[in-house]
Amino acid sequence: MDQLSNYGDKRTLAYCAFCSGETGTRDHCPSRVFLDEPYPKNLPVVPACSKCNAGFSLDEEYFACFISCVIAGTTNPDEIPREKTKRLLAEKPLLRARIDKARAVSNGRTVFQPEHDRISGVVIKLAQGHALFELHESCARRPDNFACVPLELMGEQERFEFENPQGSEVWPEVGSRAMQRLVELGPGTQRSGWLEVQPDRYRYHASIGSGIEIRIVIHEYIGCLVWWK
Ligand SMILES: [Zn+2]
Repeated sequence: MDQLSNYGDKRTLAYCAFCSGETGTRDHCPSRVFLDEPYPKNLPVVPACSKCNAGFSLDEEYFACFISCVIAGTTNPDEIPREKTKRLLAEKPLLRARIDKARAVSNGRTVFQPEHDRISGVVIKLAQGHALFELHESCARRPDNFACVPLELMGEQERFEFENPQGSEVWPEVGSRAMQRLVELGPGTQRSGWLEVQPDRYRYHASIGSGIEIRIVIHEYIGCLVWWK
């Protein structure tokens, strides 16, 4: 993906994007488990402490595998088309068993009950990374609003509003990537300014107006919205 340099206040980048502790490592945002090889060039990275950098990986694997299983309607690796999650499910029987336990049949359809704490932890972490990378805003705290819904379960109006966020009234910090995109493309483009990291795999939208708002779509299956006042 195109990557702009960040000319914002460097002090924001001196701390972990997720806990605002001392940073020592850099973390890919989005995590590569949500993307397929070959990876896009210039993947965004944010500063992270070693604890946060390593602390989410099992939950990220769980979330990526969970999405693949829901889309395929099975936890059987042989029936999972996505190579990366197929391999993880085959190599990690405990992970597969845990997702399998959440499976039920309702009205003749296979449904899965996600582990909400694990999924919300991952989505909030992704959103914190995007806020720091795009908007130069540190959001190392619990968000004020959080939602994560399969796109197909959104009503027509809800889906339209999710895909077409209102333009922000406040401009992002001077020097931040979002501000550079706004200046390059013109203010109108902020409205539909989704950033595609990898087609059909991962896209996100970052805006600042009445709060910091991050929207994420993973595998064109699940839509997430994270908002801080
Ligand atoms: Zn941290």
